[in-house]
Amino acid sequence: MLTQNLPHIVIVGAGFGGMETAKRLKNAPVQITLIDRQNYHLFQPLLYQIAIAGVVPSQIAYPLRTIFRKQKNLTFQMGEVTDIDLSKRYLRLDGSVIAYDILVLAVGGQTNFFGMKSIEENGFQLKNIESAVTTRNHLLNIFEQASHEADADKRRAMLTFVIVGGGPTGVEIAGALAELITHVMAKDYTHMDLSEVRVILLEAGENLMPAYPDELRKATFDLLRAKNVEVMLNTKLENYNGESVSLGDGKQIRTRTLIWTAGVKAAGMLDSLGVQQAGSGRVRVDSSLRVPTHPEVFVIGDAAYLENGDGQPLPMLATVAQQQAKVTAKNIQKILIGKLPEPFHYKDPGLLATIGRNAAVARIFGMSFSGFIAWMIWVVLHIYRLIGFRNRLLVLINWAWDYIFYETQVRLITKE
Ligand SMILES: Cc1cc2nc3c(=O)[nH]c(=O)nc-3n(C[C@H](O)[C@H](O)[C@H](O)COP(=O)(O)OP(=O)(O)OC[C@H]3O[C@@H](n4cnc5c(N)ncnc54)[C@H](O)[C@@H]3O)c2cc1C
Repeated sequence: MLTQNLPHIVIVGAGFGGMETAKRLKNAPVQITLIDRQNYHLFQPLLYQIAIAGVVPSQIAYPLRTIFRKQKNLTFQMGEVTDIDLSKRYLRLDGSVIAYDILVLAVGGQTNFFGMKSIEENGFQLKNIESAVTTRNHLLNIFEQASHEADADKRRAMLTFVIVGGGPTGVEIAGALAELITHVMAKDYTHMDLSEVRVILLEAGENLMPAYPDELRKATFDLLRAKNVEVMLNTKLENYNGESVSLGDGKQIRTRTLIWTAGVKAAGMLDSLGVQQAGSGRVRVDSSLRVPTHPEVFVIGDAAYLENGDGQPLPMLATVAQQQAKVTAKNIQKILIGKLPEPFHYKDPGLLATIGRNAAVARIFGMSFSGFIAWMIWVVLHIYRLIGFRNRLLVLINWAWDYIFYETQVRLITKE
């Protein structure tokens, strides 16, 4: 219920940025409408765990109405924001009109296929629960099909898994998939010759994990090789027709599985705002994260383009979105009492990526770690960052079980 005399803050997107902004305004004298097309907050860093049958979706997602049950100044609305009139200060939500005094756009990003239709149509991606479950079903299904395929060429194509993109998501899924096959599938498909399996990681650049320091790039490469992942650097993907990958040098790899992790761009709805956008469709914001021509509109997280001190765009990371949310909530309160907003400065908390069991790479407090210590840090941090005690406990039990028994519990092929 809206109170007429309090400023109305509308937040679109309840991902890392939007959820944190809303929480930080809990005690502010404002009325908040939080909008998301999903009724849950999703912990995207663990999406790949759904794809490799490590967790079920409900363990990494949490209902928004439960999260905000006790926040009296907030109303949640589930729906798709279709258009926004910045000059008249209202937006449309599934046909209804919502007016705002201050708008926070935290709509996140989407997979960028760079216009390669063949990959968008035939490849798999990890962006939301649906795409991760589709990937899991496909991976499990293809093993079932391969197990009774008599034609050796067809079988080998079924057992060849190509992952594109040597950033953290590509590395994580490649390492975890290789382990799923060697530790778990090997026990279920004892009649199959799993030496036919290939897990291939393609990277167009000359290094894996371009944002990481040299020693961790090398450690990542070695850890993947130890898990029998074939890493192909300086390798450009040209086409994928669902049967065969075509590479820039003319070579072909026969495969029924291509997982694309090589690009992210800002959410498409930002294109219709009529404001300045930079690379990947992100909205250019000023130092306090506002649209320069509309200072009552904040854009944060993956949707926003802001350069850090060395002239590089801030990365599309949850940590950036969360830090921007804190400053945005503070600035909204400052503006409402006539004060000037403060600029945003990103404090880099370090880098962390896992490469499967006992293996991860981390850069924390200027120090590089790899192997078991980095993996322990990764496990503790990811369990801590999940929302809800129940989810933390369930994931912890799941992972402990998998660790001890070399199992994954979610190997069900379900209807989508
Ligand atoms: C597979 C994967 C792994 C990742 N791993 C890491 C990691 O290890 N560490 C890290 O820091 N970052 C990681 N990231 C990046 C991180 O998830 C994003 O940077 C972060 O989610 C951005 O937060 P955000 O608030 O900008 O957007 P999001 O968290 O994406 O939230 C956007 C929200 O807006 C909603 N929305 C969008 N459009 C509309 C609309 N028109 N109407 C209504 N609602 C809408 C969406 O439903 C969504 O809930 C990963 C991302 C992926 C996909």
